Amino acid sequence: MQLNDKIKNLEPYEPERGNFPIRLDANESFLPLPEKMQQRLAKVLSSLPLRRYPDPLAEEVCCKFADFYGISPSLVCAGNGSDELISVLCGSFTKKGDRVVVIEPDFSMYRFYTSLAECEVVSLQKGQDMRIDPDQVIQTVRENGAKMLLFSNPCNPTSLGLSREEVRRILRGVGDTLVVLDEAYMDFWDQSLLGETDKFDHLVILRTCSKMLGLAGLRLGFAVAQKPLIRALRACKSPYNVGMLTQAAGAAVLSETVFLEEARRKILNARDELYTGIKALERPGVLQVFPTCTNFVFCRLADSLRVFEFLKQKGILIRRIGKDLRITAGTKEENALLLRELQNALEAQTV
Ligand SMILES: *Cc1c(COP(=O)(O)O)cnc(C)c1O
Repeated sequence: MQLNDKIKNLEPYEPERGNFPIRLDANESFLPLPEKMQQRLAKVLSSLPLRRYPDPLAEEVCCKFADFYGISPSLVCAGNGSDELISVLCGSFTKKGDRVVVIEPDFSMYRFYTSLAECEVVSLQKGQDMRIDPDQVIQTVRENGAKMLLFSNPCNPTSLGLSREEVRRILRGVGDTLVVLDEAYMDFWDQSLLGETDKFDHLVILRTCSKMLGLAGLRLGFAVAQKPLIRALRACKSPYNVGMLTQAAGAAVLSETVFLEEARRKILNARDELYTGIKALERPGVLQVFPTCTNFVFCRLADSLRVFEFLKQKGILIRRIGKDLRITAGTKEENALLLRELQNALEAQTV
């Protein structure tokens, strides 16, 4: 059996294997659910009729999501992680040969799903400062007659964000090109466009429960857009895409507003601590740290591979992207250990 050209050389996604006492590589939350919530959750989950199919529209969890963010549930579609929603948008909202603009470096799945859909990926490369110039984005979309523009804001991996007004400018400038705005990290910043989907009929916003909300293992994400787009998304996804356990657990955790606000504050504190610590190690030509509006710190190193391997040897896993490193904020202890070993790595480098 001969696999077709577009899939024959693909490898399954495989995160770094091995036993690392400290994992700061995947931008997950470091906060476990409190014991009491775990117990309440166990009770809810144990009473579910698992022989039945789940609610295909995942109405309860969509309502809880909408309540938490102060929007209307009619504008929400749930996905098996926002990853699934990216896959459906790239696969079904485009046609073979369409041009899709991405702004790189960005979340690697955009390019992946777009290529699988046999679209032409038009990549606008970020400059040394990793900033996005809205006018350049508009120009690239227009010149190429792109059918879709996909980007994360704030950006993974650069940790930088575009202001609300800059994103509005892009939305106004690209005509009716579909704009997929991935706000996976917007829980750590205050420039969300969630409240403005009524103004833009070509905008889909993606959110995830995997980062601030601390539920990466559940696989739950959401798309927010005007009704015609949401209707189309619901029609294109597989009918039972979000399992009953995930729907119930997601609804329960999204109702815990006090816990979630506390979690946001704790993660932001940890992020500030990590950022300040790394910033203190900054040296021209050796280590450059970027400002962050996420739960991770992005930095550029003269010798990123050596530092990455050094930390790995110490049992600390972070993410390396070429000459750049991305480090997720962890607990106080994890951040302190990371900072100590990062300093050791840098000192080893200069002697
Ligand atoms: C983590 C991440 C996601 C994936 O979220 P899931 O809901 O876990 O699939 C999507 N987009 C960006 C930019 C991310 O960093």
